[in-house]
Amino acid sequence: MAANGSPELLIVMGAHATPEQVEEVVARLAEAGAHAHVTPGKEATVIGAIGERELLATLPLEGFPGVEQVLPILKPYKLVSRELAPDPTVIDVRGRRIGDGYFGLVAGPCTVEYREQTLETARAVKEAGATMLRGGAFKPRTSPYTFQGLGVDGLRILEEAREETGLPLVTELMDPRHVEAVVEAADVIQIGARNMQNFILLSEVGRAGKPVLLKRGPSASVEELLMAAEYVVKEGNARVILCERGIRTFERSTRYTLDIGAIPVLKQETHLPVIVDPSHAAGRRDLVPALARAAVAAGADGIIVEAHPAPDEALCDGPQLIPTAEFAAFADEIRAFVTLMGKEIG
Ligand code: PEP
Ligand code: MN
Repeated sequence: MAANGSPELLIVMGAHATPEQVEEVVARLAEAGAHAHVTPGKEATVIGAIGERELLATLPLEGFPGVEQVLPILKPYKLVSRELAPDPTVIDVRGRRIGDGYFGLVAGPCTVEYREQTLETARAVKEAGATMLRGGAFKPRTSPYTFQGLGVDGLRILEEAREETGLPLVTELMDPRHVEAVVEAADVIQIGARNMQNFILLSEVGRAGKPVLLKRGPSASVEELLMAAEYVVKEGNARVILCERGIRTFERSTRYTLDIGAIPVLKQETHLPVIVDPSHAAGRRDLVPALARAAVAAGADGIIVEAHPAPDEALCDGPQLIPTAEFAAFADEIRAFVTLMGKEIG
């Protein structure tokens, strides 16, 4: 569903509206040159009417059979908003689920450095109960003089790790020129914090047909994050996972400041799953467990955590990496909190 105009009106069908009545509304919108975005809900079906505001205003929508209410969508984000889809979205990635009671435990190396390092990490996190494997082949580094990632060779190593462990892969796409290679290898395409407002890249992954993990920019507001997600969903890809990974504040005791408040705000505003990256937020491994527990308690749908067999030798983000030898204990603790929240590991 890629359409011009933005969804301007919510057409809420009555609880007893028939599928034919829903179809009729969709057909009448189409006749008038507007588009419909239909979301079947637990309570009622909601239709987002997409088109020019003036055109929509001329349609007698309230009088259509089965229609209960017609409301304007007031928020600047439309397709990602709770208004349009009141029920939470569950994203299924090769059988692993995130959202609405399913908690995603995504873990792995910051960066694919070499084969054994990645395979060893993948085995350890799988053994500990992780649901997906993370790892960067294309790395956004602050300094151009540091290791920039193995690129396509890194993707091949990640594929081998998936083959062996069965864990779906989450890996970052930085450049529209790498779309084909990354989309082919990844099960979830990560858009990093620095690219959150790379609108060309967002539209590309909106057309790529794979779930997207969209990280919040360190200086982006919650609304800007939701607008970024809207770029992806607008192209027809509704499988977007949002990720709070810390924002830039005056505080220097942690690498970034984990915005815990953003989690309940996002959960109210959007139907998309929201996960937390305690590793980049903390920048220090001793703080990762506490921030991860806080994320679970605040209602997050998952966490994404970095691990490494020998953090002291890591080429990237060493101080925040959890040693693989300690990962099982960490995962056990998180699992207990997840259970406490009435959720299950997806
Ligand atoms: C990462 O997850 O590897 C990463 C670079 O994170 P961020 O984009 O949040 O800095
Ligand atoms: Mn990292």
